[in-house]
Amino acid sequence: MSDYLTYCQLIVDTSKDLTGKGFLSATGGNLSVRIPEGKAFAITPSNYDYMNMIPEDICVLGMDLNPLAGERHPSVESAMHAAIYKVRPDVNAIIHTHQVYPSTLALIGIPIPALFDEQARFLGRSVDIIPYAPSGTGMLMNTVAKHVKNHNNAYIMANHGALLFGVNMERAVHNVSVLEKCALAYLLTLCTEYKASRIPLVVRELAFAKLRKDQKKYEIIAPSEESDGSRV
Ligand SMILES: [Zn+2]
Repeated sequence: MSDYLTYCQLIVDTSKDLTGKGFLSATGGNLSVRIPEGKAFAITPSNYDYMNMIPEDICVLGMDLNPLAGERHPSVESAMHAAIYKVRPDVNAIIHTHQVYPSTLALIGIPIPALFDEQARFLGRSVDIIPYAPSGTGMLMNTVAKHVKNHNNAYIMANHGALLFGVNMERAVHNVSVLEKCALAYLLTLCTEYKASRIPLVVRELAFAKLRKDQKKYEIIAPSEESDGSRV
């Protein structure tokens, strides 16, 4: 555990922070951080209250899901997290929430187009809907892995919740807040008789280019898969 303490503490602190802000509740959702040195990731345990968590409760798994540290059962979505890290070398932190406003869009299946500059800058060109698959299944893992290759950092999982990525945990947490604001503003707009206007295409592309620049920077310095050439 001592080898991974920093990462496990980060998961604990972030879980409590997100719970305090209302983005996580009870045991819903899960989050993980990539551990570049060991080609592994630290992830929240399954069905365990965030507010009671200590670093020893966090599970450390290899990318092939072999347990490296932690006594508890890892999140049932561990395979989904591993699949995302494999297809997205720019992603070093993943947060899955059941936050309310994106979850509402998850029920009506409406993606969020580029509405705000900060949205395109941090979340990507749009917030797409990932088709439904049952929680904790290989079907969900495959569906998610297939839909997240476009380098966006926020997705809505149909009839389920939200999925946020970041080059680090700080960015992933920031993206949770940005998504919440965008989802609420869009939902309110959809309740009016007016059509939501979008930012100009050229602005969206400039903002997305800045996001990609950040992502590429982190892809280069993260040593996790450089040695075996498995980066995509
Ligand atoms: Zn969930």
